[in-house]
Amino acid sequence: MSPDNASVAIITGAASGIGRALAAHYAQRGVHSVIGTFPGDPHDPEETLRLVTEAGGQGVIHEVDVRSTASVDAFAERAVQEFGRLDYAIANAGILRNAALAELSDERWTDMLDVDLTGVLRTLRSGAAKMTDGGAMVAVSSIAGGVYGWEEHAHYAAAKAGVLGLVRSVAVELGPRGIRTNAVIPGLIETPQSLDPVNSLGPEGLERAGKDIPWGRVGRPEEVASVIGFLTSSDARYVTGQAIVVDGGLTIK
Ligand code: NAD
Repeated sequence: MSPDNASVAIITGAASGIGRALAAHYAQRGVHSVIGTFPGDPHDPEETLRLVTEAGGQGVIHEVDVRSTASVDAFAERAVQEFGRLDYAIANAGILRNAALAELSDERWTDMLDVDLTGVLRTLRSGAAKMTDGGAMVAVSSIAGGVYGWEEHAHYAAAKAGVLGLVRSVAVELGPRGIRTNAVIPGLIETPQSLDPVNSLGPEGLERAGKDIPWGRVGRPEEVASVIGFLTSSDARYVTGQAIVVDGGLTIK
């Protein structure tokens, strides 16, 4: 793989799921991580840091709420304070909430977009502002926002679709500064989000759904993390404004 040793990343939502797996992946490649943790959630950022340290990497935990521009600015600044630079910004934090159209109030809609779409904007904007020597950014979308309809998730789908347009425009704008911007489009990945039986499929639903996926099972967080790692690495140095589906073939069937 490419020599991204000693590069520095900020990762939102890194106390669990895909973000945690990415911090561990980066540690194996010598990339230092600012591990974004959201104080309201039950996830344990110390476990992420333990995985990073175990892999011989360096990381620091930082509380960030992607609904606040000041909070995300401080998050990106932490990378510079702690490690002297910022190379990669990963807009991974997200929420998933059920709501049938009739119950999809303006408030629910706005709350969802604030995290899953505007939160991505804030992360890319603050991240790019701290990159002085080029860099790479990745936003986490969803098959629900690109290639798959999902009932009772219109607000989530709209936010995740918005991420794809946002990424393409930012990629064009920041290309001349040597900053690449891409997206990943995960399918069904076993994380706290999808294991939630109220807003998503839950453990049994995931197990059942996995049988219909060409690859025969749902995905693992590290299988998305490695694609994000590829997109930020110099192996993908001529790739920008793209979105890679990581779904074991779910959406091609
Ligand atoms: P997850 O719930 O483990 O991770 C989401 C993280 O976002 C959590 O750590 C949470 O604390 C954090 N977060 C929530 N609100 C926040 C806020 N306001 N500020 C900062 N952080 C906040 O689930 P995951 O599956 O690892 O999710 C990571 C990303 O992947 C999300 O954007 C999600 O929508 C996307 N995704 C997941 C799947 C899947 O099947 N798991 C599929 C497609 C897309």
